[in-house]
Amino acid sequence: MSTKFAFIDRDGTLIHEPTPEETRSGDIPYQIDNLKKLKILPNVVEGLQRLIKKNYKLVMISNQDGVGTNIFPQTSFDEVQNKLIEILKDNGIIFEKIFICTHMPDKNCKCRKPKTALLDNLLKEEKINIEKSLFIGDRDSDKEMAKNIGIKFIEIKTNGAFKIDI
Ligand SMILES: [Zn+2]
Repeated sequence: MSTKFAFIDRDGTLIHEPTPEETRSGDIPYQIDNLKKLKILPNVVEGLQRLIKKNYKLVMISNQDGVGTNIFPQTSFDEVQNKLIEILKDNGIIFEKIFICTHMPDKNCKCRKPKTALLDNLLKEEKINIEKSLFIGDRDSDKEMAKNIGIKFIEIKTNGAFKIDI
């Protein structure tokens, strides 16, 4: 038996990603670093529930530049992430695994999407159903990641509704 995975991006796909226009002075663009910025996008709860009902294992994978440094303290990231996980859990939604690359783009790490190093162990340990597994995201890097794993990509419009046809 192989496992159907739904790999899902976080910012812009599950929750609202602040646009540069929404960014106030002193804030870093795209960062969701306090609870006031946490907004779950339309259809996310229903869509994730449907994936679970269809026996998908959910895996969150996200690039979060500089978490754990002074530009993005770990506590600021955790506050938002923990609240998101709590809300999803209250709706019966559990992510089996959560992978976060915390490096800055110029570090050229092996774990930044679309590179697949964060998933290497998982893909080794689990027999993944390549035909049915999905990557759901809003960015070209997500699309590229789907290609690198060899699975279908479902594109979400950045900060749009979580519409998946499965
Ligand atoms: Zn990394």
